[in-house]
Amino acid sequence: MKSRRLVYEGKAKILYEGPEPGTLVQYFKDDTTAFDATKKAVLEGKGVLNNRISEYIMQRLAEIGVPTHFIRRLNMREQLIREVEIIPLEVVVRNIAAGSLAKRLGLEEGFQLPRSIIEFYYKNDSLHDPLVTEEHITAFNWATPQEMDDIIALAVRVNDFLSGLFLGIGIKLVDFKVEFGRLWENDMMRVVLADEISPDSCRLWDAKTGEKLDKDRFRRDLGGVTEAYAEVARRLGILNDQPGGERKGPVLVK
Ligand code: UDP
Repeated sequence: MKSRRLVYEGKAKILYEGPEPGTLVQYFKDDTTAFDATKKAVLEGKGVLNNRISEYIMQRLAEIGVPTHFIRRLNMREQLIREVEIIPLEVVVRNIAAGSLAKRLGLEEGFQLPRSIIEFYYKNDSLHDPLVTEEHITAFNWATPQEMDDIIALAVRVNDFLSGLFLGIGIKLVDFKVEFGRLWENDMMRVVLADEISPDSCRLWDAKTGEKLDKDRFRRDLGGVTEAYAEVARRLGILNDQPGGERKGPVLVK
């Protein structure tokens, strides 16, 4: 393969220079980490599944008018994306108490929240991504008040759309994390959805059994991690091994 310039290597993805200015290639690794990267593993096939799942979700979101960095999938592990200036926030949207929220506020996992809650974490490894408020974000100029309005509006739309998409295939969207970037077009800037949306960044529970179909299987040593991700892809109708060899789209659960 032709060598290309590595732009950034993260825990689960690598960014390479893209074929045209303003583009990047996002490569999905099989590496997985949890608890501030103190727990690590290589899960064969995970990157391929996340590439496909994230492609599918970004495409569906683009169709409802949510701007994203996604251009097209290139191959099993790579997608072409627009180069954006990442806003240093992890934006978490929650519908059901789990993970750090359940722990912090002493809520039982599975408690249905009275309404969706948005949280912001400052992306900074040495500080371990602390929870911050809009006051911190705008005071330190990590994002402007106008950008925060866009981020919140987009996060709510993503949550509403994905909650419905997943419920249709028998999955509860418990919570998820998204990142946003600034996309410059001439002198105009807009905030777009970036990074990925996959079972690495969402909590997904089977609506009937409550079985976890996400990265908590790795965090909690439940086993069957890639199998669970494959199940999400299968229900979305995007696995190549669908009957008839075609991808049929979401398999609705009644
Ligand atoms: N999350 C993520 N990356 C992070 C932290 C959290 O994708 O660095 C996702 C996580 O998978 C979950 C949601 O954000 O879907 C909320 O995570 P939480 O704050 O409960 O933290 P955790 O329990 O993962 O430490």
